[in-house]
Amino acid sequence: MSSGDALARERFSIPQGVIYLDGNSLGAMPQATPERLRALMREEWRTDLIASWNKHGWIDLPMTVAAKLAPILGAKANELLVTDSTSVALFKLLSSAVRARPGRTTILTQRRNFPTDLYVAQGLADMLGLTLKAVAADEVAEAIDDSVAVVTLTHVDYRSGAVHDMAAINQVARAASALTCWDLSHSAGALALDLNGANCDLAVGCGYKYLNGGPGAPATIFVAEALQDQLSPSLQGWMGHSDPFAFVDDYAPAPGIARFLTGTPSILALAALECGIATFDGITMAQIEARSRDLTQRFIETVEDLCGELVTLASPRDPAQRGSHVSFTHADGYAVMQALIERQVIGDFRAPDLLRFGFAPLYNDEDEVIRAAHILGDIIRTGEWDSPRFHERGRVT
Ligand SMILES: *Cc1c(COP(=O)(O)O)cnc(C)c1O
Repeated sequence: MSSGDALARERFSIPQGVIYLDGNSLGAMPQATPERLRALMREEWRTDLIASWNKHGWIDLPMTVAAKLAPILGAKANELLVTDSTSVALFKLLSSAVRARPGRTTILTQRRNFPTDLYVAQGLADMLGLTLKAVAADEVAEAIDDSVAVVTLTHVDYRSGAVHDMAAINQVARAASALTCWDLSHSAGALALDLNGANCDLAVGCGYKYLNGGPGAPATIFVAEALQDQLSPSLQGWMGHSDPFAFVDDYAPAPGIARFLTGTPSILALAALECGIATFDGITMAQIEARSRDLTQRFIETVEDLCGELVTLASPRDPAQRGSHVSFTHADGYAVMQALIERQVIGDFRAPDLLRFGFAPLYNDEDEVIRAAHILGDIIRTGEWDSPRFHERGRVT
């Protein structure tokens, strides 16, 4: 293996000829996933039917899959659950957080946070008569005061890739007795995290981006061990009950992290995510983070060499300040991305003008990153993007 090779390309099934730089939006398909799902259907669901909940450990999957995720997220296994979508998980944690800080009137976030994070927090604030306060990214720490119940931020900005100083914000929040809830959608599986070391209270993560769990894969819920029994779940479902199969009328939360379960877990989706997580076996997050920095750096340098005067870097120049994706602005970014996709280089476009490229060191290698930069340079220098067919928009960009 040369130093520019992908760390585990053979664990993925990627169409020949495609340079896939969108693993930050939908991770590539692991080789093992189709066979695992087929086996689950034939040998578990079809054969053992409902007995599978016990016999094949289905009922514990939100916890057993979480345990495999623990080293990737830098958390303890008993602090994690795999369940719900990121948006729903966020609602669950924010609502529990504000309930744990009665009398405090503010949910604090940053402007231009990911839309679902803003919408979820705004809806919760409206429902409870609280205020959602959104400030500029670099003004969050100074906006934390004793009116704030919870601070909610996305660790790696989905547009620019800029990384918040998690430990620093947690420290300020803790001093003000505010809770913190981090969205790790663009960090999980991309950066080396240490949620306990950084004193995180709460976090959610996305299963279908760098974790390769498949479209709509379940999300992750993190609740620091010391907080778990202090928080009351607000979506009180039977799966979070201390004794779900007693079928009693009164709710009593399960001890520990299990109280944040709500309903019946999606077993097929959990099995697919388990295959995604297995693509990290034997590889440390420190290795992945280091390689990610090399790849993003090579991409930026090559693009700027080839067409630096025609695009503008919209990501931090310092590798330590960015996650595993890189964005450039171009006034006709949408059409440029369509032209790239036609040439089999797949990134994505974020309105109004961002070309976004994600780098997944498990399957991306240096050679394809350099080739992608050359194709981008070509398309931009020649104006190849300026054709009517590249201006038609689909529902998903
Ligand atoms: C991708 C992403 C989500 C996704 O939320 P879903 O509920 O899975 O659609 C949420 N937050 C951030 C910051 C994201 O990047």
